[in-house]
Amino acid sequence: MKCDICGSTNTYIKNYKHEYTIKSKYIEFECDRRFCYECNSIVYDNYLDDLASQKAIDIYNKNYGISKEKIIELRNKYTLSQELFAKIIGCAKKTLISYEKGTSIPNDNYIIILNSLIHNPLLIIDLIESNKGQFTKKEYSKLQDKLIQNNNINQLFFDADFTPTVYNGYTKLNKNKVLNMILYFAEDVVLKTKLLKEMFYADFLYYKNTGASITGLEYAKITHGPVPDNFDEIISTYVEQELIEYKIEFIQDYENHRISNKIKLDKNVFLKEELETMEKVRNYFKSFTSKEIAEYSHNEKAFLETEFSKKIEYDYAFDINI
Ligand SMILES: [Zn+2]
Repeated sequence: MKCDICGSTNTYIKNYKHEYTIKSKYIEFECDRRFCYECNSIVYDNYLDDLASQKAIDIYNKNYGISKEKIIELRNKYTLSQELFAKIIGCAKKTLISYEKGTSIPNDNYIIILNSLIHNPLLIIDLIESNKGQFTKKEYSKLQDKLIQNNNINQLFFDADFTPTVYNGYTKLNKNKVLNMILYFAEDVVLKTKLLKEMFYADFLYYKNTGASITGLEYAKITHGPVPDNFDEIISTYVEQELIEYKIEFIQDYENHRISNKIKLDKNVFLKEELETMEKVRNYFKSFTSKEIAEYSHNEKAFLETEFSKKIEYDYAFDINI
């Protein structure tokens, strides 16, 4: 290697403080650099200079973006190939490879997507559903199988073909709203029975006011009152994904099923009016015990006129007592 300044080929390597500014972030670190023995100027060394810029990218990704290790870990968690995972997040396979190798900095868009997947693994379904056209039929069913088998994601979370009916409040199931409605009511730990009733009241009250439900959930009549249909599957998926915590406590003869949040509620998924409805329900039942709210719901026409284990029509919302 030859010095550009004096032409000498007599060079040496020493530890050097590198300073970079990447996307307006200042980054400094020490690593080897080549110098001229005669005039002490920096001598360009492809190998060492590449290592240094690699290191700069790495530090940036770790501190301000997302590290390559986290991306690989995330993809492996879903047991997806680079090709499929790239399609899901909406980038080229080549781009994903460069992120996983740490040779480039993910653009802000992907940083947001990847971090939100780490935060809430279920969001992958929304990404898949919204890019459905990208996948062949075979790929789509492979994806579904993998996520159901390897990630304990329930079939329910995949879009069935949506048909507006009186049982879903003419509203398409919105998984993000289901999760955040649970997080909303479970903010300071809630008993399962109470949570299920509050969800019923929120969806039905909203339907009464607007002709649509908030979540698109279907409700059914069980002994304890009206509850979201398939609720156990929904809850266990959220527990598996570590989005909520579910604990059973025994107090004398009672079994308490406690639900609490493991991630932060995202109010932005709701419309203002939806939040107001949920707030109204929460305040109305604030002092009710699980038993009291269950008994209260037993007087609803929605409950009285529906057969056990049958779905409840949203039109009963017009008779709701709240
Ligand atoms: Zn020189």
